[in-house]
Amino acid sequence: MPEEAGADTRRAARLAREAARRKRQQKALLLTAVAVCVAVAVGVGVWLISRPHEPASSAPAVAAVSTETAEPTASVEPSVAPVSEEPTAPAPVIGKFDVDLARKHVEVLAGDIGVREAGTDGEREAASYISAELEKLGYAPSTVKFSLPNGRTSQNVIAELPGTGSRRVILGGHYDTKKPSPGANDNGTGSAALLALAAELKDEPLAPTIVFVWFGDEEMIDSNQDHHHYGSRAYVKAMSDAEKAATVAMLSVDMIGYGPEFRVRTMGKGPQTLQKDLLAFGSANGYSATYMKDPSKYGYSDHEPFELAGIPAAWIEWRDDPVYHSTKDVASHVEWDKVRQAGQLTLDYVRALDEQRMATLIGG
Ligand SMILES: [Zn+2]
Repeated sequence: MPEEAGADTRRAARLAREAARRKRQQKALLLTAVAVCVAVAVGVGVWLISRPHEPASSAPAVAAVSTETAEPTASVEPSVAPVSEEPTAPAPVIGKFDVDLARKHVEVLAGDIGVREAGTDGEREAASYISAELEKLGYAPSTVKFSLPNGRTSQNVIAELPGTGSRRVILGGHYDTKKPSPGANDNGTGSAALLALAAELKDEPLAPTIVFVWFGDEEMIDSNQDHHHYGSRAYVKAMSDAEKAATVAMLSVDMIGYGPEFRVRTMGKGPQTLQKDLLAFGSANGYSATYMKDPSKYGYSDHEPFELAGIPAAWIEWRDDPVYHSTKDVASHVEWDKVRQAGQLTLDYVRALDEQRMATLIGG
């Protein structure tokens, strides 16, 4: 029918106009999308070139820890790939924390060497092993001896990784054990994690100088609850005022291989900026760590003398380990995913410590 045919024609014409309009809109959208992609790619490229180790600090962290986290930089990651394929601008290789490497070190420390009581051959053998491993990585470690009140001599092993700026961050952990324990978790895990971190970070341009310290004698040498931490106390005593002022953070990595609770701890006596910032960073990146205060007037790890000296300090640990200080603290007792999480959080946090973040730790 004419009337219907006319309506059909009008409808057909309208549909054709709409189709044309949709095509124009699609074209415009496509052009906009292309323009945005190019802008993002160029922006990311410039950012990568100007801040070589910064962007990747968050990407592997997110991938390694949780698929739910949404750091701002994670969303740009797909755009990074095409840029990094350009031969003139290779993306820096930012690795994950190597828990398998840490496990090998724990097996040597707790298995091959065994009991590492302060001031004994076992402790000295461990110090030599740590020092030799650092030399293999290209570090120039120093072994600094100190006297114990019981007449024995212990030693700290120290290695520095120079930063691009003047601020300092200390990553420490004790390698001695409480006799008769071979100390796989306490503190083979922390000692081994520090070696794995030293291996992972050695070629990265970080803002702070990282001072790795393997402390001798952290454990109590007699029944007096305050007769401990001689390695870290000797270290702090030897620090110059300038070194103290430049040190924005000290993290004690101690017992990170067993237990249901992931903790960041302090005595609550020194600056609390590090524990707060580390916990906020951890929470934002999908880690389950929460705060716990040392329950008595004594600190329970090597953060103690640093905290008392006014340096932002904290202790990272998994707890509670019912077999610590016993012969049952062997490598097969360690829960390696706990070591991985603590090691990865430490690695991610150190990579995130730019000048601005470090200034906030010391109230600057
Ligand atoms: Zn310990």
